[in-house]
Amino acid sequence: MRFYICGTNLIFILMRKITIAKGDGIGPEIMDATLKILKAAGAQIETEEIQVGEQVYLSGNTAGISKESWDIIRRNKIFLKAPITTPQGGGYKSLNVTTRKFLGLYANIRPCMSLHPFVTTKHPVMDIVIIRENEEDLYAGIEHQQTDEVTQCLKLISRPGCEKIVRYAFEYAKQYGRKKVTCFTKDNIMKQTDGLFHKVFDEIAAEYPELENEHWIVDIGAAKLADTPEIFDVIVMPNLYGDILSDVAAQIAGSVGLAGSANIGEECAMFEAIHGSAPRMSRDSANPSGLLEGAVMMLNHIGQIDVAEKIHNAWLKTIESGIHTKDLFIEGKSMKNVGTAEFAEAVISNLGRLPEKLKAVNYEKNTIINLPKYKRAAPMIKTLVGVDLFVDDKGLIADDLAERLKKIEINGFELTMITNRGIKVWPEGFQETFCTDHWRCRFKSTNGTPFTSQVILELMANALSHNIDVIKTENLYQFNGKDGYSLGQGQ
Ligand code: NAD
Repeated sequence: MRFYICGTNLIFILMRKITIAKGDGIGPEIMDATLKILKAAGAQIETEEIQVGEQVYLSGNTAGISKESWDIIRRNKIFLKAPITTPQGGGYKSLNVTTRKFLGLYANIRPCMSLHPFVTTKHPVMDIVIIRENEEDLYAGIEHQQTDEVTQCLKLISRPGCEKIVRYAFEYAKQYGRKKVTCFTKDNIMKQTDGLFHKVFDEIAAEYPELENEHWIVDIGAAKLADTPEIFDVIVMPNLYGDILSDVAAQIAGSVGLAGSANIGEECAMFEAIHGSAPRMSRDSANPSGLLEGAVMMLNHIGQIDVAEKIHNAWLKTIESGIHTKDLFIEGKSMKNVGTAEFAEAVISNLGRLPEKLKAVNYEKNTIINLPKYKRAAPMIKTLVGVDLFVDDKGLIADDLAERLKKIEINGFELTMITNRGIKVWPEGFQETFCTDHWRCRFKSTNGTPFTSQVILELMANALSHNIDVIKTENLYQFNGKDGYSLGQGQ
């Protein structure tokens, strides 16, 4: 145990056991460099190492991690992970995605700041934090091939998922003295899923009147981010957009090698660099800054804020001194081109010093962000109002399919629409529309009789007897009287 004085308070720091994994490719080198700096700075951590990644995958474990390693991660709760290589093909599941979801690490925080003029960038005043939802969206990995021609990936967005990440973004902005929270979605197209994310953003934004808030459609938002990142501050977004745009943001700030990320859950947390294992990079040439930044976030998270601050400032001092790894080195501008290990030594030699030109960090006021437990609202009134039968049909003519589907109708429950890849092709489709073998055929009550599960069973039985190949069904519900399904495009 050690202590330090913060204002008039005496703060005690306990030795903290953390799990580490050195990973693959450049992983072991950047982890060794990072741990050396942490030790020299006086971090009160004890490490317990586990093996994950390529060798574990290739030994036949498709998850890339053993049960014993899970036990260690869950016991220690804090995990510092170097990047790993996921072998191509062979059904290997991404360990990163699995870890985030198994451990409920719902918030992924990725700060991206330019270090102008010491790191070359077109965006000298960029200072943003991307807060990415980490458990949902297309990363549910629920995919199916449904017909010869069509595959499907399920995009899942939940209210608890949105509420947790959006609230985290506002709390983060408040704690770190940020001014604005921006939301990126594509809710002009995905009105149910991204629409929910945007709606929750608006609801929670209203609870933080001291912070500015805004919403951008992700395509133009991404363009603005790449062009004028200085107009953004904290940006919160669903998983896939956050994954892509945080790499863009790190790269335009100077190098993907500079950015770290924190994956935060209620019980556990994982810290890492945002980049991968860069297996083609030559030895002792990688920039360890991304993992080091992840480790600084970890020290903040476990309350060792004085060590976090000391390391961060020594790192800034090293960068402004022109001691640069290959990714940042510019002849005539940088002072020295160093390898991974020498960069770590340079940071160590700067411990206790502040940057003179770059702004020093001050973590004195940092505390852990604790969100209130998610409170479930009262169940809504859910009313079945129809069904979409998805049909595999190789006839490829919508009018012909409609004629066959008319034969399976039940009195009062009729075919109202057929779409192909979302666009309405019956009634009154365009002959120019390209059709695949995958059709969504909507049946609804046409005389006011309530729709029931029995109707769906009868429609299915009728389809079977008329050789109509139903590949899946999707129930159409209203929630508290509001439609919970999309219209056909052009409907
Ligand atoms: P990558 O991020 O590993 O490397 C892309 C390029 O970025 C490298 O060639 C290099 O030029 C540069 N780069 C990356 N890290 C750097 C560093 N520290 N210093 C300097 N330059 C750096 O992306 P990739 O080549 O697409 O992926 C390689 C492997 O990493 C794949 O198996 C992938 O699945 C895995 N991956 C792992 C993680 C993770 O473990 N968190 C994340 C992304 C990718």
